[in-house]
Amino acid sequence: MTLDYFKQKYGHEVEGLWVPRVTAVTGFVSKGNGFWNRGSADWGTLVHQSVASLLKGEKGEPQESVMPSIQAFSKWQKAHHFEIESIEEVEKKVFDRENLYAGTVDIIGRVKGKKGIIDLKTSSEIRQEHSLQTAAYFAAYNSGSTKEKCETRWILRIEQYEECKGCFAKKKTKVSGGNPFCNHVWGGPKSELEFKELENQAHDLEAFLSAKELWEWYNREWLNQIPNYPKKLSQKVLI
Ligand SMILES: [Zn+2]
Repeated sequence: MTLDYFKQKYGHEVEGLWVPRVTAVTGFVSKGNGFWNRGSADWGTLVHQSVASLLKGEKGEPQESVMPSIQAFSKWQKAHHFEIESIEEVEKKVFDRENLYAGTVDIIGRVKGKKGIIDLKTSSEIRQEHSLQTAAYFAAYNSGSTKEKCETRWILRIEQYEECKGCFAKKKTKVSGGNPFCNHVWGGPKSELEFKELENQAHDLEAFLSAKELWEWYNREWLNQIPNYPKKLSQKVLI
């Protein structure tokens, strides 16, 4: 790995400083648990792009492969009276000046009038590190925004799969479950949606900041080579 690659992969420049991305830290946490499915990452990106383009009112139909997920999203949107204030609140870049990290929030919007951070997930379950990620976004948005602050944060998980009519095996990018000897007969694509509000913001943010410290320690040799990386920890020691 080169230094440029490290910088590009794990962070970006904001206001003259190089700071890590929220997902660099949370990815570091989840890697330890053996997660990370490259195969569905591309599909997840396509779902994110399609939802963003729908919310921004851009022209054009979503791709056939993500259609069931986008339809599930639209149905959810109506049922929850979900709205965004402006298209700038979709894929919104945030920067926490105090805690020194940056990130991109999928959606900031209102559900039945309550304003919050929404993180879109295409994983097959809501995971622990999603709490860390949204806590970091929530704090960054509220610290930097001149607009009304967010009251809460949610995970909106959309999953899409095909199910075997015979043995109920599921197929996303890979087949899982069911009978390995079954001559699977796949039904049409189905989608599943889960919407969850997360509590304990203060505790989750504290855990994110601890994870960031650990990430900084793990990558200290790289970080020491970045002149505009704000070294908050060593400054603390000097005081
Ligand atoms: Zn089957």
